[in-house]
Amino acid sequence: MFIQELANIYSKIPYLNEIIPFYEISPQIELFLNQEIRLGANNLNPYRFSYKFAHDPKDVINLFIAFSASDGPLKRMYRYECSECEETNILSDEEIKNFKCYNCYFDGDMEKKEFLDNVKVIFEIKQPYLKEVKNRLKDQASSDIKSSQSGEAKLGSPTLKEIFEMNRLAKQPLDNELERLEEYIFRSLSRGLSSI
Ligand SMILES: [Zn+2]
Repeated sequence: MFIQELANIYSKIPYLNEIIPFYEISPQIELFLNQEIRLGANNLNPYRFSYKFAHDPKDVINLFIAFSASDGPLKRMYRYECSECEETNILSDEEIKNFKCYNCYFDGDMEKKEFLDNVKVIFEIKQPYLKEVKNRLKDQASSDIKSSQSGEAKLGSPTLKEIFEMNRLAKQPLDNELERLEEYIFRSLSRGLSSI
């Protein structure tokens, strides 16, 4: 179960309780998960979550980084629009490390300094959890479906640069994999800068 997975992550990284305590976040994220999936989403947007429950976006992004470590119930995907052909690429950790546009095969974007600002990070709900919630929602009477508030502006996704910054500000490592990705991308960036 999604919430059980979060409980496991909290027990492995007790520091998360200093960011937002588990007893506070668990009912909120359960509600949010149901609402978002009901609206057809397959990912959770940390800005939408922060907005709905009045949390500091920084804190929520840090939790989402921990929830999307390799054994977590979320999976980080990266959305990037190619500077050559404008095709939107959706990439995994491995694909972003060796970025090459899948439409025009251009591979020079990773060496540009604005690359990190242009990559958006999406927190996808892993399939088994998505299915579990969809099944649960199917069993519920449609009468208790509340429509979501529309007062909320369209909130974008955080950028890769923001995610790296948040992760660095955390007092404890939240996901080592993300640190490795950062080192890797910074090496490509510095190669790009030194070749100018
Ligand atoms: Zn392209």
